[in-house]
Amino acid sequence: MFFNITRRYVDRIIMKINNKLFTLLLFVLLISCNEHIVDNLEDYKGGVCLTFDDAYVDQWYKLSNSLIENNIKATFFVTMINTLASSKLEKLQTLDSLGFEIGCHGYKHIDAVKYLESHTLNDYFYNEVLPALNIMDKSDLHPKSYSYPYGMNNDSLDNYLLNYFEILRDVTDEQRKPLEKEVEKIDEIFCKKGESKIVSSLGIDINFNINESKLRNALQRAKENKEILCVYAHCPVDSNAISYQIEIGYIKNFISLIKEYELNTYTFSELAK
Ligand SMILES: [Zn+2]
Repeated sequence: MFFNITRRYVDRIIMKINNKLFTLLLFVLLISCNEHIVDNLEDYKGGVCLTFDDAYVDQWYKLSNSLIENNIKATFFVTMINTLASSKLEKLQTLDSLGFEIGCHGYKHIDAVKYLESHTLNDYFYNEVLPALNIMDKSDLHPKSYSYPYGMNNDSLDNYLLNYFEILRDVTDEQRKPLEKEVEKIDEIFCKKGESKIVSSLGIDINFNINESKLRNALQRAKENKEILCVYAHCPVDSNAISYQIEIGYIKNFISLIKEYELNTYTFSELAK
């Protein structure tokens, strides 16, 4: 009898503990699921990856205020870093510390495809990539991404450079001639996070004539398909842009469209994850 009562008492205690454990486990599970769902929703939203090439550090720095005010991420691919004054290197370090990404855009801005006609992949790496990486590392900039000068690359170079970078930026061949395709039909300028380590991009400097209506169509596709539209430009200027420049007013309008379409922005190396 005594044994039975004690047994029942012990059973009840065990049941209560089990119930509490179950509630606790359920609680932990709900919290982790919730975080997971939030992460996935964040990942699943479409967006824009805004990139700039070459060495227009002063102009990028000036533009960065508008980008910060609007919470817009951007990536600056720097070339010929050996020619930059220390004041420009400091600006790149500041941009890096503000959360912008600083990528590598070659040492001498060489056309890789032409170069590889008479050189090896090793030659390209040791002459065009490594010297830039060495200076960037010394300057406390540690690039995770590379953008090809002139968007010139090939598969073997891509494979080689992916040993040194998380992701590589190409440009769409559609803009090497007067654009015939609708922007929203150029599949390679749209991607999903983690989908590819070589991402193409759409030129939006003034010479590419990507007007607001074309931008809207591209952003609409990014929103509908939950894709990321990757674009590139060079030198932001206040007004009277010439080829390979982009007016700050155009970028500000682009920013308002990104907000209107409720899109995220990403740094370039975030596309690799
Ligand atoms: Zn360039």
